[in-house]
Amino acid sequence: MGLRVGVLGGGISGIGAALLAQTKGHEVWLSDAGKIKETFRRTLEINKIPFEESGHRIEKLVACDLIVKSPGIPNTSEVIQTLIEADKEVIGEIEWAFRNTKGKIIGITGSNGKTTTTSLCHHFLISAGIKAAKVGNVGESFCHYLVSSEADWYVCELSSFQLEDVETFHPAVAVLLNITPDHLDRYQYSLDRYAEAKLKIAKAMTEDETMVYNAMDPVTVAKVIASDAEVRLNSIRETDLLGKDKVYVTSDIVLDLSRSGLMGRHNQVNVIAAARAAVLAGCPTSGLQEALESFVNEPHRMEVVGTHQEVTYINDSKATNVDAVYYALEAMQHPVIWIAGGQDKGNDYEPILTLVENKVKALICLGIDNKKLNETFSTKVNYTSETTTMREAVRRAASHASPGDIVLLSPACASFDLFKNYEDRGDQFKKAVSELE
Ligand code: ADP
Repeated sequence: MGLRVGVLGGGISGIGAALLAQTKGHEVWLSDAGKIKETFRRTLEINKIPFEESGHRIEKLVACDLIVKSPGIPNTSEVIQTLIEADKEVIGEIEWAFRNTKGKIIGITGSNGKTTTTSLCHHFLISAGIKAAKVGNVGESFCHYLVSSEADWYVCELSSFQLEDVETFHPAVAVLLNITPDHLDRYQYSLDRYAEAKLKIAKAMTEDETMVYNAMDPVTVAKVIASDAEVRLNSIRETDLLGKDKVYVTSDIVLDLSRSGLMGRHNQVNVIAAARAAVLAGCPTSGLQEALESFVNEPHRMEVVGTHQEVTYINDSKATNVDAVYYALEAMQHPVIWIAGGQDKGNDYEPILTLVENKVKALICLGIDNKKLNETFSTKVNYTSETTTMREAVRRAASHASPGDIVLLSPACASFDLFKNYEDRGDQFKKAVSELE
């Protein structure tokens, strides 16, 4: 018999969860504290799913058998607390998808590198002819995909927010890339709490399932050791990196990144993780190199957007934290004109001070409040300057660049002070580069 499923949140994942519930024969009620976007409202209307917006009527939610919540709603919110007190089972969208599929899952999480690794792993699988779908935080929501399709394997990008609300969810293969400070505002500024959410990926995994993890990241290692998960472990170690371009997938399979669009040590880790996960899912190793070479990453991640007067322009707009900038700078082989700034998320720049001193010849601060960047780096680089438009930032960067240099947009900050989102910031960078005289 069908359940009464209450869905909290009318965004991408809430709509997917509601449609999936309806497809599976359940009665659905969707509730959103804010305004629901026009397109989503239309989807609900067309599918005759009842909903409310601009507030929750608790009695309607309490009358449901199960609540599926969107990851954006924190567990500390009043509505969730009230439902928990009323003894309601509250699960996340990923848990709901998991309960409604027979396909196997590769779950990928970490502070940085999730999208790259998820996309690459998916590319390895489909290149080998395996019926695989890319779902989760990248592309389509997991639930929405299940409304009309089924795959044998789901490569699922998982944020810490999504993992907070899993219970029985257990991927056949998990990947834990790194744990570095990000989104700490949601976790009472505690790295431990944030890490706990990430480790939930393995909580329900069993001893015949495998977690590939980055053993070069001390926080990840400490949390893996402390976790009581019974999962089989597969570690990525320093000895798996061969120089700056090659990696060991297994002791006898080496992949060469120099013929791919992926650069830098962080991408060596991503390639190992993606390849090992794919192999664990049954992907033959023979096609991995060819697939790596045909892989095109999502934009805004160390994306070479062009050269102008022998200066290379790289768009790394997705680098919204210090760790991502660390790896971007580490990968640079030529002097850098660095464009950084935006909304600070409590950044600690200490880990990149030496890299900046050694590699950056000019810093262009692009943000409304550049005080912290200026104070931290004005003694480390020869030239700093401030602006609030991308066009001007690129123009100034170009005027300070010599042939052979790199202009790198790798902001270390969120984009919301001056841009709609990181995509908008990256697109404006590309446009400004294309408009250089
Ligand atoms: P996510 O989905 O976790 O945000 P992305 O693949 O979108 O990860 O990359 C986000 C940013 O982090 C980019 O600037 C990218 O160059 C950088 N990055 C990618 N992989 C890693 C990694 N393994 N460690 C650190 N930084 C990384």
